[in-house]
Amino acid sequence: MSILRVALDVPLPKLFDYEAPHASEADIGRRIIVPFGSRHVVGVIVAVAPTSEVPPEQLRAAGEVLRDLAPLTRDWLDLARFCSDYYQRPLGEVIHAALPPRLRRTRGLTAAPEAFAITDAGREALAGLPARGRAKRELLERLLHAGAVAAAELGASSALRDARNRGWVAPVALPRPVIEFVARHVLTSEQQRATDAICEALGGYAPFLLLGITGSGKTEVYLRVITEVVRRGQQALILVPEINLTPQLEHEFASRFPGARVVTLHSALAENERAANWLAAQAGDARIVLGTRLAVFTPLPALGVVIVDEEHDTSFKQQEGVRYSARDLAVFRAHAAGVPIVLGTATPSLESYAHARAGRYRLLELPQRARQGARLPSVRLADTRREKVVDGLCESLVSAIEERLARGEQSLLFLNRRGYAPVLVCNACGWTAGCPRCSAHLVVHLADRQLRCHHCGQTESIPRTCVQCGNIDLVPFGRGTQRLEAALAERFPAARLLRIDSDSTRAKGRWEAMRGQIQAGAADLLVGTQIMAKGHDFPRLTLVGILNADAALLAADYRAPERLFAQLYQVAGRAGRADIPGEVIVQTRYPGHPLYLALVEHDYARFAETQLAEREQAGFPPFVFEAVLRAESDALDDALEFLGRAASVAPRDAGVTLYDPVPMSVVRIAARERAHVLAQSRSRRALQAFLHQWMPGLHELKPGRVRWHIDVDPIEF
Ligand code: ADP
Ligand code: ZN
Ligand code: ZN
Repeated sequence: MSILRVALDVPLPKLFDYEAPHASEADIGRRIIVPFGSRHVVGVIVAVAPTSEVPPEQLRAAGEVLRDLAPLTRDWLDLARFCSDYYQRPLGEVIHAALPPRLRRTRGLTAAPEAFAITDAGREALAGLPARGRAKRELLERLLHAGAVAAAELGASSALRDARNRGWVAPVALPRPVIEFVARHVLTSEQQRATDAICEALGGYAPFLLLGITGSGKTEVYLRVITEVVRRGQQALILVPEINLTPQLEHEFASRFPGARVVTLHSALAENERAANWLAAQAGDARIVLGTRLAVFTPLPALGVVIVDEEHDTSFKQQEGVRYSARDLAVFRAHAAGVPIVLGTATPSLESYAHARAGRYRLLELPQRARQGARLPSVRLADTRREKVVDGLCESLVSAIEERLARGEQSLLFLNRRGYAPVLVCNACGWTAGCPRCSAHLVVHLADRQLRCHHCGQTESIPRTCVQCGNIDLVPFGRGTQRLEAALAERFPAARLLRIDSDSTRAKGRWEAMRGQIQAGAADLLVGTQIMAKGHDFPRLTLVGILNADAALLAADYRAPERLFAQLYQVAGRAGRADIPGEVIVQTRYPGHPLYLALVEHDYARFAETQLAEREQAGFPPFVFEAVLRAESDALDDALEFLGRAASVAPRDAGVTLYDPVPMSVVRIAARERAHVLAQSRSRRALQAFLHQWMPGLHELKPGRVRWHIDVDPIEF
């Protein structure tokens, strides 16, 4: 009789013991069905022990061990354990968040066979097959001549089912084609140097920061490194920020490695496909795994390199449940596996840049555009205090647009605010339309005559009169993408307009279609939000106008400038990728601001140095480490009261500062009031030790109606 220690998807920081007569050490890492309360759930066996601390009469018998798949390896479980420890979440929650949803179900998985071949028994049977068994004869003859035939090609038939049952045919793996690499460019000397440096480091842990300006050809460096990794029979893991980038990228990767199995992993995949891709990686079959943050948990028995593209992107940080940073876990993983990790970006996170500056990461730079003759766009600041501004557009930007229209080139106006206007105001009494569930304004969406909350999704129809004074003169205040679109349509009636924001691209396939339209030159004027900032390549786009960036400049969040710079740098990089030089015009009231001046010079380092100096002085990351305890409830007082009790059970640690509980900057979201306490330390280790001591006490507090969680290395407050 042995005891299984099982990780379950429950918010309690412990494992659950079950009695199991037939399980052994070899089952560690396997899924198992166990009774939990009145249900049966799937858990993962993480240990087998001779005894349990649970009294024998309370110990329940485990159900079936699912032996359908290979067990999760110790390395994989170590990664989950690290994530659990570091982010202060129960191991069971981490494991279940990491598994593809299909593998969390109690129904076992029968892996579909890849291909079939005829067996000896089948050959014998073929000789004596009666004449009426035509379908069977054809099937067996086909397999006899072709060797293995893909299951997909055979399809499902009663002949196949019958032949399988009789043991005439058996599932087999298809022979692997030889993987080749299609070289599309001769590397620039800088690309070559970066590639060589990374390839020389293969076989051991080595962190690299690949700082390459937009268009410098970072992807080409990744591809060359992956070639070498694949040549050595190993696997490459590539993490990318956005779902909408993966179809393009997947295509690019697959076409560059004929014969290799390239799989993607992201949350938009159908359950079966995601499970199949995960299993292909686990079997070592998929040599190249391309995915979003969740792909950091892909089992990879022959991992050779990890690449994180756009490493600064905030989408690598999970913002609910297990709040992990996929980038940071990727570094841990590369370290544990003893392989290089490449963090690629044009605008590193200040954390990664500080590591590079301190020599902990090796800095590789690509300071030039890869294509012959392609230059960085010229960036100009338009002073909105001096220039005439009509409909939110200053004169110099309008004439720049006119030039592009005359030349048949494209312009993009970047405005990171969707909807028609951010507020509806009563001119008589000053009333503004607010969300009843959030501390936020409702955004005017004129297209469908609605007010919409961008925090909780609340929608209302636009009132005809002021709810406070009855006045009928309600005006949309401020400008969103829809309003800008309307203004442009009036101003440039002949131009073909396209608005690209999460409203206009919501329907499946819309964004793909729009991208095609832009690429084909079927649009002249684009209005876009941050969707447009990501790595798209639009050869006809030669002008980018940036509107209302000042709003982010004035935000209270100390990370806002870092995000703004990255975003503006990215969006500016959209201009002039081909042979035509690009131009960027930033409308601002603060043309002397250091952030804009660094942008004009395309000088990331200068921007980073000023930011780091400010952060160091103010005592912000990366010079300190942070964790927040957040609490939310129907009433703010309950949340604050809980946090007060939480603080009172916190360990006393000279190296850690615990601040007072305060309401969050957006207090109310979806009718929940939110508050937090911040813990800060100069030492990551001290902060971790503090959190570990604090957690048991927190779990003992009676939360009442309050829900709480810890966020380690938070990026939002
Ligand atoms: P990044 O990701 O660094 O912004 P990309 O990898 O998207 O840059 O490359 C920008 C463009 O340059 C792509 O169209 C790519 O095909 C091209 N390119 C990359 N390397 C070379 C090279 N060595 N010679 C010519 N063109 C290149
Ligand atoms: Zn009013
Ligand atoms: Zn709301």
